[in-house]
Amino acid sequence: MKSTTKAPAPTVAANKKAPATKAADKSMTKERSTGASGLRDFFEDAIKDIYWAEKALTKAIPKMSKNATSEELEAALNDHLSVTEEHVQRLEQVFEMMEMKPEAKKCEAMEGLIKEGDSILEDTKAGPVRDAGIIAGCQKIEHYEIATYGTLVTYARILGEDDIVALLEQTLEEEKAADHTLTGIAVNSINLDASNESSNKNEKA
Ligand code: FE
Ligand code: ZN
Ligand code: FE
Repeated sequence: MKSTTKAPAPTVAANKKAPATKAADKSMTKERSTGASGLRDFFEDAIKDIYWAEKALTKAIPKMSKNATSEELEAALNDHLSVTEEHVQRLEQVFEMMEMKPEAKKCEAMEGLIKEGDSILEDTKAGPVRDAGIIAGCQKIEHYEIATYGTLVTYARILGEDDIVALLEQTLEEEKAADHTLTGIAVNSINLDASNESSNKNEKA
């Protein structure tokens, strides 16, 4: 039952389309293949995209944690920073397994989410309201990562890359755990503090 034949590894020039030996003459008329090799190209692109995103997060998370007032939130962000550094390394392993050099391709979505996080910091002063905003921004980021890794796991499975599936699933679980931690902090303390802060302000006004 077990198929031991692996899909051929991409050649060194990963950006150039590798000639698909026998199938090449058949697909001459079409610019893009819609079959397995098309999915592999798409998968490789998506790995480069999330690699950029994870690397950008290693710079963005410290800024968020420095601006957090809640020690619990600060600790959770610092913890997720080291997890994120592992995600970067794991992606470098994925590149290696695909015989590709690690290459980051700008992720417009993550750039936007990080910018949104920056604007939360600009629009608030230190305290529970800013903390609530940091959590909201970080959860948007986690959800983007969860969506991305969920898709990547599915693609890797279709491509028969079981070792890559295992690596990406590990990261996916860690993103979900981070999301749950942030929800817990928000529900247990920060959102309540934030609403108290705004009602105190209203009383004084
Ligand atoms: Fe991550
Ligand atoms: Zn992206
Ligand atoms: Fe994350």
